[in-house]
Amino acid sequence: MVTVIAQRHPHWCDRERCTARGSRGAHRSAVVTVDPAVRIDANLYSVASAPETVLVEFRCGERVLSGNAYGLGRILVSLGKAAR
Ligand SMILES: [Zn+2]
Repeated sequence: MVTVIAQRHPHWCDRERCTARGSRGAHRSAVVTVDPAVRIDANLYSVASAPETVLVEFRCGERVLSGNAYGLGRILVSLGKAAR
């Protein structure tokens, strides 16, 4: 007999970006892009073994990060709204 345990996902989890399988992998939200020309992406993230601990992943070039505090602030506000 095989027992299948349903994976629980945080409400913000984007199933197409989620790699959580049991206690391995990670949940990820949809990516927020503030300015496509500058290309700063961010998303919520939590490891499958501790889904209650929500982290933020940023992806951008090193030069972009130092000069775009306003854009980063907008990302954090958007992610905060998504996490509610
Ligand atoms: Zn998930």
